[in-house]
Amino acid sequence: NYILAFETSCDETSVAILKNGQELLCNIIASQINSHKRFGGVVPEIASRHHVEQITVCIEAALEEAELSASDLTAVAVTQGPGLNGALLVGIMAAKTFAWANHLPLIPVNHMAGHLMAAGLVDTIEYPAMALLVSGGHSELVYVEKEGSYKKVGETRDDAAGEAYDKVGRVMGLTYPSGKMIDDLAHEGQDTYHFPRAMMATHEVEFSFSGLKSAFINLVYNENQKGNDVVANDLENLAASFQAAVIDVLVAKTKLAMEKYPVKTLIIGGGVSANRGLRERLNTEITEQKLIVPPLRLCGDNAGMIAAAAYVEWKKGLENCSAGLDLNAQPSLVFEEL
Ligand code: ATP
Ligand code: MG
Ligand code: FE
Repeated sequence: NYILAFETSCDETSVAILKNGQELLCNIIASQINSHKRFGGVVPEIASRHHVEQITVCIEAALEEAELSASDLTAVAVTQGPGLNGALLVGIMAAKTFAWANHLPLIPVNHMAGHLMAAGLVDTIEYPAMALLVSGGHSELVYVEKEGSYKKVGETRDDAAGEAYDKVGRVMGLTYPSGKMIDDLAHEGQDTYHFPRAMMATHEVEFSFSGLKSAFINLVYNENQKGNDVVANDLENLAASFQAAVIDVLVAKTKLAMEKYPVKTLIIGGGVSANRGLRERLNTEITEQKLIVPPLRLCGDNAGMIAAAAYVEWKKGLENCSAGLDLNAQPSLVFEEL
């Protein structure tokens, strides 16, 4: 079984080939981050144009690296959503065309199922499993009773964790995306500002990060009014305080979710799961469940994870998972709620 997968939901054009659901023969990733940096975020129209330029280059690179030709392939998989509509459409058009031209089935994949199944590429997921998915656009806990059955337990009410990192990073004068930089700075400082931990008092599996962002902005403003340029004078402690507040809430709500729905495995996924602080905390605090932390190259957007999720769909039978050439993007695709 060889699955060729396409991922173009945001600002990475990626094409991968997965052998027998386990072995990534290639995972080509063309990042556009440099084109978006000066705007402080992803510009949808620019993203789509880059995908158009890069997608065929990536397909050729993938086949070459895997030393395969189209006739060797079993199926074509593509991210259907969630993501930017125009960006998704480029991958979907490419996948449809490739599938049609080579008489291959087409398997649509939920981008968040991809972030989740990245873990399955490095370790065996024992079910039931819980997944903490934290990325630029999402912060959610997903219960996976058995392979391929994804149910959302709870999510953020407002900003995603990665979004909070990027917005706070802007106030700190860092370039977009700033998650990694804040993580590094945080390791040089201490939690001295004690920002609020939202929703900690509730017994609900729910996140909120916009209050933390406001508290951060207010603190910087108030200190500036007092003549203290806190960004210039105390950047490491600011970063450490922000990060401690994010991680405290992520860890507490993950534990709460696993109290409500006991599982054998905890998975983390999405761009923010690359966070060193989060990984360290989970490694020491998750003792009763198996913890699967994907390697950094599988945390951000990549087609390898889309191929992994597609393989799970493929095992359900093509009649249950394949799409026709009328497949459309679903920018706000969500998991069913538990
Ligand atoms: P989604 O998956 O929700 O559609 P996305 O695909 O844009 O959104 P990803 O590419 O999975 O998101 O993740 C990008 C986010 O991860 C950015 O917000 C970035 O700041 C954040 N990030 C990356 N590395 C780290 C880190 N070490 N610590 C915290 N955040 C990080
Ligand atoms: Mg990205
Ligand atoms: Fe993503």
